[in-house]
Amino acid sequence: MARGEGGRERLNSVVELIAATMVADVCSIYLRTPNDELELVATEGLRPEAVASTRLKMDEGLVGQISLTAEPLSIQDAPRHPSFSYRPETGEDPYHAFLGVPILRGGRVTGVLTVQNRTERAYDVDEIETLQTIAMVIAEVVAAEMQQLTVAQSLDGTPRLMRPETLKGRIVSGGLGIGRARRHDPEVPAAKFFAENVEDETLRLAVALQQLRASIDTMLAGDASHLGNDPMDIMEAYRMLANDPGWATRLSDGVKAGLSAEASVDRARREHRARLESARDPYLRARLNDLEDLDNRLLRILGGSDGEAMAHGAEGTVLVARRLGPAELLEYSSAGLAALVLEEPAAASHAAIVARALNIPTLGGVANITTLLDADDEIIVDAELGEVHLRPDEGVVSAYKARAGLRTQRQEIYKQLREEPAITQDGVEISLMLNAGLRLDIDHLGEAGADGIGLFRTEFQFLVSEKLPSLSEQTELYSYVIDAARGRPVLFRTLDIGADKLLPTYSATTEDNPALGWRSIRFALDRPGLFKRQLRALVRAAAGRPLSLMFPMVTVASEFHRAKALLQEELDWARQRGRPVPLKISVGAMLETPSLVYELDALAGHADFISVGSNDLMQFFHAADRMAPEISERYDMLSRPALTFLGNIVQSCERLGLKVSICGTAAGQSLDALALLAIGFRQLSMPVGSVGPIKRMIRSMDLAAFSQSVKTALETSNGSFRNDLLGIARQHDILLADA
Ligand code: PEP
Ligand code: MG
Repeated sequence: MARGEGGRERLNSVVELIAATMVADVCSIYLRTPNDELELVATEGLRPEAVASTRLKMDEGLVGQISLTAEPLSIQDAPRHPSFSYRPETGEDPYHAFLGVPILRGGRVTGVLTVQNRTERAYDVDEIETLQTIAMVIAEVVAAEMQQLTVAQSLDGTPRLMRPETLKGRIVSGGLGIGRARRHDPEVPAAKFFAENVEDETLRLAVALQQLRASIDTMLAGDASHLGNDPMDIMEAYRMLANDPGWATRLSDGVKAGLSAEASVDRARREHRARLESARDPYLRARLNDLEDLDNRLLRILGGSDGEAMAHGAEGTVLVARRLGPAELLEYSSAGLAALVLEEPAAASHAAIVARALNIPTLGGVANITTLLDADDEIIVDAELGEVHLRPDEGVVSAYKARAGLRTQRQEIYKQLREEPAITQDGVEISLMLNAGLRLDIDHLGEAGADGIGLFRTEFQFLVSEKLPSLSEQTELYSYVIDAARGRPVLFRTLDIGADKLLPTYSATTEDNPALGWRSIRFALDRPGLFKRQLRALVRAAAGRPLSLMFPMVTVASEFHRAKALLQEELDWARQRGRPVPLKISVGAMLETPSLVYELDALAGHADFISVGSNDLMQFFHAADRMAPEISERYDMLSRPALTFLGNIVQSCERLGLKVSICGTAAGQSLDALALLAIGFRQLSMPVGSVGPIKRMIRSMDLAAFSQSVKTALETSNGSFRNDLLGIARQHDILLADA
């Protein structure tokens, strides 16, 4: 490898050397092209003309089968195998015995390495092992030279890892982050692949394994400081896997074959990732994820750290990970991350919830980023447009720095408004509240200058831990939140489980349409034990103080009445036992389905308030999935039907004496918020980052005049109202959030 040859000659030397060492008549390397074909790039023994012209589909022939399964394949008489695909140009007629192994990198099959012999023979376990080890080294060499080898991308000859790249992703948490990349998964540099002394290396591996097992035992024994928030049942599964003799044997076999301890663990990790890519069964996926975590922990121990994901990174670090657990992200957060990029499409993942709560700009579903990046690369995460710029050139960097500077200036202005009321030029006071869900959200309450918490998503506590929170854990969180709010109102939304928010213990993945399925208040009413435990925790937490709570996705009044009756039972239960109860209780319903609009009169006198959940309401109103980016244009609140509908809700509530507020994401977006104010909403609840900009906007507007213009324009509008509204806002000199 050290010879100064170019890519192709180097691979030719490699196949020659392998064929000689393994006494094989043929050795060939196939690499995956950008079009997902397997191209023969080097061979010893097959016809040289076939190089660069023989291409197989990912499922074609024996080579295709290896790339599909990501597992080695050894066959005594290949031409008789049902998957054999005959390619006359290669001249492979006389070869019978066949052994092929996948070339794996970053969880992907990037190629296939094969040897063939004329005679019918079976390759032994050691030979298979050796070929896998070689494939691992080839993976690294190829990764560095891929561009020269594959046709489409070699034109300007720049090695890939130097070039700027722009990748797309889904916005998980908005914002802008600029910094240096840092990988979450530990890397093994190619220079560390081989053991200098097999005995020493075997010992290192054994010691590290012992340390890993001991650290897991300590966590299980209840030493919370080591726990890093990992829930116990995950740790139980870890312990079983960490003690699995199959895994340990596989690792020590690698070392015996000449690999360093790190490289042997890395090899196991590649295999686990590759299997994970193709596994569909959720149980198997969970176990493979655990195995990958263990591989990572073991690598950290071998590298001299204690096996936890603790980051010592300075500010300005952009963390890049294939996937990340919520607890791990919390561990990193103290390092002041500039941004987070995930390969997994994370919009609904638990790490996503934490990332939003911590206000870390985050993109998910950024395919292949961990392979395309070098540690310490400069990286810009644009979680406003959904793009990542890797190794950006000067022009891009300075444009973004200017944007970031502007944001900082604006933040300063918002800070100055913190103690000011959200009052319009014509004297209408608007109540701005926060959407929250985690303990750490509460710190933002004062910082943001909000009037209270308009939506506390209690299910987050359930989602970020793998087992159901106990009564006391729930009580503890709710009373902490009430304390920290210092007299400002907090609207607790009771468990909103289902659809995109699945509990590990109640996963309803079998539903065809989970958004329309067993979720929210339906789920709670069908699980009265779980639901009443939560109500009890709320009643306890608010003892002697006011309590506000609301039920999610009520579709008919009777659901509200049943839920309220359960609350009453809890209150009676507490009173009978002489326990203190809340000073005052106000109970509301979330209006998230159109049907409830026609039940408002049945709620009047029973409910104290209505909170419109526009995220769900708009998806049901427009019949457009809130999670599907392809149809996001059809999911537009700024349209005549949607605004008319929402305006009617405000009027009905006023007529019936029901207080009304709105807490979907739209309430925090400037144009949407303007429209909501124009049609009559006076209380908006929004993510923390929106409070400052929306407050500034409100303080700049004359609400009566603006509403009048909006109403007139709405009457004649057809299609999207977005541009009309922007025009009106400009005419009225309103300071929009992004201006
Ligand atoms: C909503 O649907 O608007 C809402 C606030 O609830 P969630 O986003 O948690 O479903
Ligand atoms: Mg909802």
